[in-house]
Amino acid sequence: MSEGMTLDLFGKQELDACAICPRHCRVNRNLGQTGVCGVSSDIYVARAALHFWEEPCISGKEGSGAVFFSGCTLKCVFCQNYELAHAEAGIKVSPERLTDIFLTLQDQGANNINLVTPDHYIPILTASMQSARDQGLRIPFVINCSGYETVDLIRRLEGLADIYLDDFKYIDAVKAKKYSGAADYPERAKESLKEMVRQCPQPVFDDREMLQRGVIVRHLLMPGMVHDAERIVKYLYETYKDQIYLSLMHQFTPFKRLEKYPEINRKVTAREYNRLLDYALNLGVTNAFIQEGGAAKESFVPAWDGEGIIK
Ligand code: SF4
Repeated sequence: MSEGMTLDLFGKQELDACAICPRHCRVNRNLGQTGVCGVSSDIYVARAALHFWEEPCISGKEGSGAVFFSGCTLKCVFCQNYELAHAEAGIKVSPERLTDIFLTLQDQGANNINLVTPDHYIPILTASMQSARDQGLRIPFVINCSGYETVDLIRRLEGLADIYLDDFKYIDAVKAKKYSGAADYPERAKESLKEMVRQCPQPVFDDREMLQRGVIVRHLLMPGMVHDAERIVKYLYETYKDQIYLSLMHQFTPFKRLEKYPEINRKVTAREYNRLLDYALNLGVTNAFIQEGGAAKESFVPAWDGEGIIK
């Protein structure tokens, strides 16, 4: 940060014609215009609280300090956090208040600060992250992101991000276009992951088996898409071997709005999920997290009640 610059100004200039994610909307977010992500240059957060439903090495017994940001660059049709992704939930916070929130979560015993879907805010978040470090934040920052990022955006996080909890949603451009309006998702996800692994080339755990540094790549298995999931696992394993952890997720939850997409308007079956696990095992994958059956419950969606935001 240059001398004399306030946290409030840091990173905002480039939102004059926003092209920070692959959507390249070029709207002026500083004038209140919104692009696909649906938010201006102000930061909106819907919840900041201890969260116990991430991978065990992220949540631990004490919980992950999850900060849920409003808006999303992808807006998948099956999103479990629909109100959040569409910026219908969230409270405006200043960069200074965001730093306080990080430090408060550390005081509450959080194992890390887990920035959930921060992609569209990253240039203006880094100052709050650095400020928290300067004020004594010791726990890792987790970037819990969609995979749909530019390499340049991920480069801004070098030295600040400790852990990437990254999605790899699609390997097929047609499906990426159909369900997220982003035909270029597979290519962007590959490129951004490569940069994440460059920054965090090996997993590092502490003596409590909590991840301190590294990359976890999540794939949410979708109904009828085991073959796609196998292609993703194959790509990830053949490219990165044990440099990364895979998290194979079974919690796809059909909502009413999926009636327009009947082919995915159901839960993933145990048979489909087991087929994917067998495939991964036969390929030689050992660094993986898996979910118990029955994880597809709407109760996994937290309440967007402003917890931890309002003083
Ligand atoms: S961050 Fe938002 S406004 Fe900027 S390019 Fe991406 S979707 Fe568009």
